[in-house]
Amino acid sequence: MKDLEIDGIGMTSRRTRERLIQRLVDQGIQSTKVLDAIRTIPRHLFLDEALAHRAYEDTALPIGHNQTLSQPYIVARMTEALLGREGVNKVLEIGTGSGYQTAVLASLVGKVYSVERIRPLQEKARQRLSRLSLNNVRFRHTDGGMGWPEESPFDGIIVTAAPGEIPEELLNQLSPEGGRLVIPVGGSDFQDLLLVTRQGDEYHRKVLDAVRFVPLLSGVIR
Ligand code: SAH
Repeated sequence: MKDLEIDGIGMTSRRTRERLIQRLVDQGIQSTKVLDAIRTIPRHLFLDEALAHRAYEDTALPIGHNQTLSQPYIVARMTEALLGREGVNKVLEIGTGSGYQTAVLASLVGKVYSVERIRPLQEKARQRLSRLSLNNVRFRHTDGGMGWPEESPFDGIIVTAAPGEIPEELLNQLSPEGGRLVIPVGGSDFQDLLLVTRQGDEYHRKVLDAVRFVPLLSGVIR
C-alpha cells in the first residue's frame, strides 16, 4: 500500500515538487543525483503540520528552538559541492536540525555521522529518518565544533550553522586524500559559503556563494 502521508497530497504533491526541481535547475544546480534526492525526500515530513503546505517553496522555514530548515537551493548547492565529481562515502554533518539535509545525504552517500546540540530537534530528526528507512546514519548529541574525532577522517564534512572562523578540529578531521568541507563562515548578517579541499597538509579554499545561516553555538541543550 502507498503511504499517502509520505507521498504527499495537494500542496505537497508530485507536481509541486517538480516545480521546485525546475527552479533549482534554473538556478544552476546540475547534479542529477542531487536533484533526484530532493525530488524523492518528502520535505513536508520535516516540518510541523502547520507549515507542511509550504515545504516545496524554495525558502528557509522555522523548525522551533530559533532554528531553521535550510532553503532547498542551499541544500542542493551544498550537497553538490560536497559530493564533487567523484562523490564521497563517509560524511560528517554538523547541525542536524530537522534532519532534512541529513536525509538527502543519507540517500546519496555510504554513511552519515550527524551531530546536533539541541536534543529535542535531534530526537525528531532521528524518528523521521527511521520512518523513511534511511538507516545509514549515526546521531550524536554534542557540540559539533569538536567534530567526531573517533570516527575521523571523513571524506566530506558539511556544516549547516555558521562559525566566525573554520574550527581547526574540522580541518584536522578531513581526509588528507581529497577531503571536502562545505561550511558557511562569517558574521551574523551574512556569511561566505566555502568549499575547502584537502590534499595532505594543503588546504584549498573557494568561495561558493553568499549565504545566511544561524550561528554555530557552543555547549548543548538537553
Ligand atoms: N540542516 C538543518 C539546518 C538546521 S539550522 C536543516 O535543514 O534542518 C542549524 C542547526 O545547527 C540547528 O539545529 C542548531 O541547533 C545546530 N547547531 C548550531 N551550533 C551547533 C553546534 N556547535 N553543534 C551542533 N549543532 C549545532
